[in-house]
Amino acid sequence: MGATMTLTAERTAAETFLAEATELLGAKGITQDPDLMEPWLTDWRGRYTGRALALASPGSTEEVAGLMKLCARHGVPIVPQGGNSGMVGGATPDESGRGILLSLRRMDRVRDLDTGAGQVVCEAGVILQSLHELADENGLRFPLTLGGKGSATVGGLISTNAGGTQVLRHGTMRAQVLGIEAVLADGSVYDGLTALKKDNRGFDLKQLLIGSEGTLGIVTAATLRLLPAPTARVTVWAGLSGIVEARTLLRAMERAMGDTLEGFEVVPAHCLDSVVAHLPDARPPLSQRHEWNALIEFVASGMDEGRLRERAERALAEAMEDGLFDDAAIAANETQAEDLWTLRESISAAERARGPAMQHDISVPVEKMPEFILAAIPAIEGEFPGTRGIAFGHLGDGNVHFHILAPAGAVPGEWEEDEGRRVSGRVYDLVTDWGGSISAEHGIGQVKIGELARLGDPVALAMMRSVKRALDPDGLLNPGKLVPGA
Ligand SMILES: Cc1cc2nc3c(=O)[nH]c(=O)nc-3n(C[C@H](O)[C@H](O)[C@H](O)COP(=O)(O)OP(=O)(O)OC[C@H]3O[C@@H](n4cnc5c(N)ncnc54)[C@H](O)[C@@H]3O)c2cc1C
Repeated sequence: MGATMTLTAERTAAETFLAEATELLGAKGITQDPDLMEPWLTDWRGRYTGRALALASPGSTEEVAGLMKLCARHGVPIVPQGGNSGMVGGATPDESGRGILLSLRRMDRVRDLDTGAGQVVCEAGVILQSLHELADENGLRFPLTLGGKGSATVGGLISTNAGGTQVLRHGTMRAQVLGIEAVLADGSVYDGLTALKKDNRGFDLKQLLIGSEGTLGIVTAATLRLLPAPTARVTVWAGLSGIVEARTLLRAMERAMGDTLEGFEVVPAHCLDSVVAHLPDARPPLSQRHEWNALIEFVASGMDEGRLRERAERALAEAMEDGLFDDAAIAANETQAEDLWTLRESISAAERARGPAMQHDISVPVEKMPEFILAAIPAIEGEFPGTRGIAFGHLGDGNVHFHILAPAGAVPGEWEEDEGRRVSGRVYDLVTDWGGSISAEHGIGQVKIGELARLGDPVALAMMRSVKRALDPDGLLNPGKLVPGA
């Protein structure tokens, strides 16, 4: 009887909240239709499926603020979501069904574009691909890109401090955001959109919100930096004998090519084989098989292509004379350059097609990465017989995707939950011993919250909890994500 009364009271409270939210947002702004909600309740990797009271899609900052005030008054949790392309289950609600899934996708206006200053003010729902197109149409570029660009939104990119393949030269989202507008847990609006090059009025609140995965505030708009469009691009595929040689080549290219060096990705032979087997039209760029490959990109603005190519060829010839690589192919045109990038960007899908694996997105200091790879792969393979370790990606950033493939015959779904979990624990132990990060790009979300609690610096974790409590005392913003024990 008592339980029935509590359930009824909860239902009434939810109904009251929903009625007020519908009045605020209108029929377009909120739905409980299971068919409309269903695609957004499972994360991109398909590992988590949650439930939600409703899917809210406000059309303006005022509406987000009004909804947040309502949530605060009724104690309703809120899970912000952009393109749902995140890799750590951060935008997926829990299974309680008590919270609101807040989509920012309707807020996709470009509020202002200042081509002279190289600045754009975008709402949170603007998709990265659209931002690239807008910049391109105006002779500019937004210097951050990643495989999920067709769905990732400005709000999601900011909230995960996304990286990608141009971080080596241009930095992560932290370097691209000049200002932020965000709705806080009490519904107040932080207006920090004005881009100031110098501002020492206290804490950098914009940087506090970047990478906070929706746990400290809801990003509604941002001022982003744009750069002049490139005038020259040279893309190179080099074959090397080892990962230590790859680091030496990286340093040589940095010295010779200065800040035209924009990308330096490493691809082991195993990954190239997987991609060639997976993609019908893919071919290895070099005639011989090499244990390691490097995909190197030089980009310049205000320099013609011929000059950049000449410089790159000279630098590569010297590196080859020094024995830093064995063979190389330089893309002759944009199509060939794109083909080389397709090989790199298809690795995850090609490796996934080979069978179950545990994926880790880790970093250690750039100088230590080759030695880390050479020590960690045999350590894991020795401890878990039959597994195979591969590392590929952003060597120039000290960040690789460190995948451990399951032994032959492992049952997909079962292996990951059993031995796979222990494998990941060991990988994160090793990364921590080497002074690195268990999350270089994708964030913590719900996937890694336990590992962060286990391995994070207790002082840093206590600081994170204090900040969370101060900005979200009732724990309504994206509960169960990022901050252990919040
Ligand atoms: C094929 C592919 C390749 C990828 N490559 C990379 C890569 O190279 N580098 C990289 O860093 N990432 C990569 N990603 C991951 C993903 O694209 C990024 O994490 C991206 O930033 C997520 O944006 P989103 O809009 O999809 O956010 P979502 O997945 O919707 O949300 C991500 C997190 O941000 C929060 N959030 C979303 N919007 C807001 C908002 N407006 N306010 C507050 N919190 C918000 C969510 O609650 C969640 O915690 C890749 C993804 C795919 C599918």
